[in-house]
Amino acid sequence: ESSEESSLSLPDYLQKHEYQIVDTDDQHFGELILVNKEHACVGNGTMLRSLMDNDDRHYALTDKTVSLNQEVIADFDRMMDDFYAIYGDTDIMVACGFRSQEVQAGLYRREAESVGEEEAALWVAPPGYSEHQTGYAFDLNLAGHYGDGSGNISYENVPPYSWINENCSRYGFILRYPEGREDVTGFHAESWHFRYVGYASACLMAEYSMTLEEYLSFVRRYTAEDPLVVFTDNGSYALYYTEATEYAHTSVLVPSDYSYTISGDNAGGFIVTVSLDN
Ligand SMILES: [Zn+2]
Repeated sequence: ESSEESSLSLPDYLQKHEYQIVDTDDQHFGELILVNKEHACVGNGTMLRSLMDNDDRHYALTDKTVSLNQEVIADFDRMMDDFYAIYGDTDIMVACGFRSQEVQAGLYRREAESVGEEEAALWVAPPGYSEHQTGYAFDLNLAGHYGDGSGNISYENVPPYSWINENCSRYGFILRYPEGREDVTGFHAESWHFRYVGYASACLMAEYSMTLEEYLSFVRRYTAEDPLVVFTDNGSYALYYTEATEYAHTSVLVPSDYSYTISGDNAGGFIVTVSLDN
């Protein structure tokens, strides 16, 4: 890594910058990875932690194995704390978080046997292509209505729960399969399936009503020299894209004096998110 002298063509936040060398394979990891029918999940869950670890949680779990990427849990707990503070409701149940490839294979097989392969594919992703394998996605259910034997999800986008659907972006989450976007996502609308993408990106996707597919195509156009800037309730952020190289390592231009995160997009590159307020 090398520090470089200021350059006139770069925006203020990059006046002091350096190159971070990342493993090119890391393009398959991070909170912005795209996993859908065209983009397989390369990992099988990273940095997983059980949601049982939080003794003060205001939600239920189907069982003690429910786990998510550890970066996600604090923001999810914060969202559920705020939901509880407003409504005093503890009915929300996390029905499913991380799912292994093996579990996904079983789910898909059972669904295909029950409704046929074509219809099954609109509800359940084939093994290797489920967001649940990332550890960044989860399904909500309602504890009071669970166990009716049908196995169906009872969570709906109706009060008071609609507060979650309406406010989740403020905690870094998106509703991954929105109504009316089935042609883009490849899945029937699911009011219960949420995905963590990080705060700045969730704000942008909410503001522009974009699915993850659309958002990632959009962000690709932005460079470090001319980034996408978003102003949020919690400060402003600059986002830009760096294409992955064909080599083992990729150099990513980053600011020296601002904090930032780098996530792969699982579609050939990296997205840098810079916090402009520190
Ligand atoms: Zn789901």
